[in-house]
Amino acid sequence: MSRLVEIERRLTACRRCPRLVDWREQIAEEKRAAYADQDYWGKPVPGFGDPEASLLVVGLAPGAHGANRTGRMFTGDRSGDWLFRALHRAGFASQPRSTAADDDLRLLDCYITAAVHCVPPANKPSADEQRECGAWLREEIAALTGIEVVVALGGLAFGRVLREELGWGRVEPRPRFGHGVEAAFSDGPLLIASYHPSQQNTFTGRLTEPMLDQVFERAARVIRQRPS
Ligand code: SF4
Repeated sequence: MSRLVEIERRLTACRRCPRLVDWREQIAEEKRAAYADQDYWGKPVPGFGDPEASLLVVGLAPGAHGANRTGRMFTGDRSGDWLFRALHRAGFASQPRSTAADDDLRLLDCYITAAVHCVPPANKPSADEQRECGAWLREEIAALTGIEVVVALGGLAFGRVLREELGWGRVEPRPRFGHGVEAAFSDGPLLIASYHPSQQNTFTGRLTEPMLDQVFERAARVIRQRPS
C-alpha cells in the first residue's frame, strides 16, 4: 500500500475535532435541497492527485456542499469550478471541470490538499482545530517528495504552511499574506500566495480569472526552470 493511500485510510476515519465531526455529519444529513437525492461523503476529505507532483495546492477546508458532499477536494462547488479551470489552463489538470469523484479528472504533476480536512462552520476552523489537522498536512507533505512549488489559497492556508514544521526549513522574515506574494523556504519549495477562489472573492471581483492564472503560470514557469 502506498504511503498516501495508507494516510488516506487513517485520515478518513479521523474524529479528533468533536465540533467539526458534528458539523460535517449534520450537513451530510440535512443536505442542500438541490442534492437531496445524493449521499453526502460527510467525512474528512483526503488530498488527491499525482504522488510525484511538483506543484502542491493547499486550500482552506472542504466546502459544505462541495467536497463534503463529493468526497474530493474542491469538487462540486463554485470554488472548484474556478480552481480547475485555472489548473487546466496552466496544464496541471486534464479537464477544466471537477464535478464528482468519478468524473475522470486527473491532476498532472499536481496534488491538492487543505489546511483542515473537515468542513468548519462559517469556514472558520479554530486555532486548536487547525493545529490538530496540521498533523495530517505534515504527514501528506512527508509523503510528497517532489514538491517544488506550493500555492496556498487564502490567508489561513498560507499561514499554516508557514507555521507547520514541514521539513523545509524556515522562511525569514515571515511575509504578510497578499495575492502573488512569494516566499522561499530555506530548504524547500517556493511558496506562492493566492486569494482563495471563494464566492466571496470571485463575486466581488477581488479575485479575477487572470489573477488566478498569473499564480499558476508563475508556478509552471518555476517548475519548468528547475535544474534537472
Ligand atoms: Fe481529524 Fe482534521 Fe477532521 Fe480534525 S479537522 S477531525 S484533525 S481530519
